[in-house]
Amino acid sequence: MTHTLPRRALLAAAPLVAAPSVLRAQGPNATQARLLVIGGGFGGATAANFARRTYPWLDVTLVEPKRHFVTCPYGNLVLAGTRQIGQITHGYDGLRARGVRVVHDWATGIDAAARRVRLAGGETLTYDRLILSPGIALRWGAIEGYDEAASEIMPHGWVPGDGAQTLLLRRQLEEMPDGGVVGLAIPANPFRCPPGPYERISMIASYLKRHKPRSKILALDAKEAFSKQGLFQDAWAQLYPGMIEWVPSNRDGKVTKVDARERVLETEFGTRHKVAVANVIPPQSAARIASEAGLTDQSGWVPVNPRTFESRVAPGIHVVGDANIPGPMPKSGYIANSTAKQAVASAAALLRGETPPEAVYFNTCYSHVGEDYGISIVGVFRPNAEGTAIAEVQGSGGVSPRGNLPEQRKLEALYADAWYDSITKDMFA
Ligand SMILES: Cc1cc2nc3c(=O)[nH]c(=O)nc-3n(C[C@H](O)[C@H](O)[C@H](O)COP(=O)(O)OP(=O)(O)OC[C@H]3O[C@@H](n4cnc5c(N)ncnc54)[C@H](O)[C@@H]3O)c2cc1C
Repeated sequence: MTHTLPRRALLAAAPLVAAPSVLRAQGPNATQARLLVIGGGFGGATAANFARRTYPWLDVTLVEPKRHFVTCPYGNLVLAGTRQIGQITHGYDGLRARGVRVVHDWATGIDAAARRVRLAGGETLTYDRLILSPGIALRWGAIEGYDEAASEIMPHGWVPGDGAQTLLLRRQLEEMPDGGVVGLAIPANPFRCPPGPYERISMIASYLKRHKPRSKILALDAKEAFSKQGLFQDAWAQLYPGMIEWVPSNRDGKVTKVDARERVLETEFGTRHKVAVANVIPPQSAARIASEAGLTDQSGWVPVNPRTFESRVAPGIHVVGDANIPGPMPKSGYIANSTAKQAVASAAALLRGETPPEAVYFNTCYSHVGEDYGISIVGVFRPNAEGTAIAEVQGSGGVSPRGNLPEQRKLEALYADAWYDSITKDMFA
């Protein structure tokens, strides 16, 4: 389905400027309640900032080990060389200035019954409501031979960290001779950022085209189809002809084993691909703190109430961002932002004995595929009438139209940059 740009731009902007629509003004007699947020990324920073701005009666503490947050979004542009790591690095002083108590430490355990969180540094924090947004864990060993040590040779570049993984991949691309093969291993669903690997292929191709035009990209995929596939493949044919080979799982694209020292990616049926640079994006699950707290199910992700994002097994804990099972919604920064606001609004209502606001969630995922060339996918989601699951609102979104549309591609690249600026302001105050 296609739709016009102005509507797309409006959809993209909506949740960043507006709180969930039914929030009420807070009365002067509201008692102070403790909102604890774990994880200072897309879900957690949004939650802390939104809570302070919207519910001044809430006492908000954010627990995040890192002093700076390097976003995954726009990390692919660092690989292309069109952004520097400093441009995607954010600090927490803005949140402090808003009145959030920021504690740089790891949460090491959650006692849901006692409403207490233990920190690595020894402190114990108590809460009335907890927002948990710890992101993902990489499933080391799910691909044979791919562990933390192997990721120092074959970087994943798939968690925010300190940017070291993205910089390592960038350095390897710079050091690679012209004519080398860059291999990618791409996981099956569900995983963080469905269009991310394909934006990455595009941004690596953009770098190679400029600096090492005889080089090739071999993308080995554990799936048979991917997000915005037609748009990506059109762009690859137009911008990078002959440079990218995408191998789906039904053509032996699923990587099951790696040999990091030899830089070999091995597929399901035993085909060994020796490459010059390997980017391995392994299968994922909810971050460790969520599984250790017993919040995950057999899928490895956290089941939640679609209206409030409260855990199905632990009352008082709202799990937002990539760690939960969000039905048809993608694991994106935008959804983390949107669900964080609904979770905070629900937590605030429940603390005051009120009904949580009606839920509506927004997503726009932009991808850069070349210079002045952006594409996107949009969706609006709501819980079903029974409140048991989330469904995409019929006719609400879609993807950019296909065809030779240079003006539209240029505008979407600009919208993407505006999205990045507005969402990071919305997170970090
Ligand atoms: C290459 C790439 C490109 C992407 N591009 C886009 C894009 O264009 N648009 C988009 O919408 N999304 C994009 N995404 C997806 C987006 O990054 C994630 O969906 C988003 O970061 C999820 O937010 P989160 O809060 O769940 O996790 P994160 O943003 O990863 O934040 C989790 C935070 O929790 C902290 N944490 C973890 N465990 C603990 C603990 N025990 N105690 C305390 N803190 C803890 C971590 O340090 C981290 O800071 C991209 C992802 C990748 C990999």
